[in-house]
Amino acid sequence: MSIEVRSLTHIYNDGTPFARVAINNIDLTIDDGEMVAIIGHTGSGKSTLVQHFNGLLRPTSGSVKIDGVEIGQKGVDLRTIRRKVGLVFQYPEHQLFEETVWEDVAFGPRNMGISDEEVRGRVERALRAVDADPSLAQRSPFELSGGEKRRVAIAGVLAMEPSVLVLDEPTAGLDPRGRQDLLGQIQRLQAERHLTVVFVSHNMTEVAQLADRLVVMHRGEIVMEGPPKQIFAEGEHLQTIGLGVPDMTALMQRLRAKGWDLPASALSVEEAEQAIMAILTEEARVGAGADV
Ligand code: ADP
Ligand code: MG
Repeated sequence: MSIEVRSLTHIYNDGTPFARVAINNIDLTIDDGEMVAIIGHTGSGKSTLVQHFNGLLRPTSGSVKIDGVEIGQKGVDLRTIRRKVGLVFQYPEHQLFEETVWEDVAFGPRNMGISDEEVRGRVERALRAVDADPSLAQRSPFELSGGEKRRVAIAGVLAMEPSVLVLDEPTAGLDPRGRQDLLGQIQRLQAERHLTVVFVSHNMTEVAQLADRLVVMHRGEIVMEGPPKQIFAEGEHLQTIGLGVPDMTALMQRLRAKGWDLPASALSVEEAEQAIMAILTEEARVGAGADV
């Protein structure tokens, strides 16, 4: 399912002395089945932008189409849009409120007018999709660990079985292990269910690992857009807007500065290793040749 954003502007407190242009004249198309990461400094408008994708915020001007249907147009039911586009807020665990995990995940589907059996199936599938232990279902969401709470909150959105999954900083505050687990689950979900995934992130290594395409925001506008390799090759431009590059890219760029003939674009440990090994092998070969 695709998302088409055209000339989208959002002004908070429009028409008051507190008016604030949060996003300005944004054009963005996200294709069916794509995995797109939105990056940018705090306050650059990422959350404002993604909250338009399921109609949570209304455009001040411009439009958002989901699968060709414009949100907010007469006759378009917001509930239908919200079933298609699942939005997971930043720190979604703050929105857990039922007595048990099961009830929490069932909350969305219960309001869809489907049978109890269908609700049960959806809850089970959603909990399984985030690798939640079945024994969690009857516990109180409030006694879970941070990572477990996060996963239960995501399961609550997955239980609506959306076609588009939007996650606002899904790994914020998780430890490296919890972060990797969650990223693996998102990746698997996207592949298995052919989901369109949009996620906001501050972590350059994780967007390099996961996203097909990066959208870089600065002061309410999109300033760069493209595959991770292309974006991270412009490390200096990123720095001027308060962003970095993945750890491995930074390492490669430092070695290049020392005269190593390495690609500027290596994003992962594996790629970096390959490039460095190629140089070492070449040096060994040349060295051996010189001995003869
Ligand atoms: P990001 O998610 O990139 O940190 P936001 O979309 O949250 O950025 O914020 C963009 C701008 O809009 C910021 O200047 C922020 O202060 C402002 N803003 C965000 N939410 C509100 C709100 N509810 N009322 C007024 N201004 C807001
Ligand atoms: Mg935000």
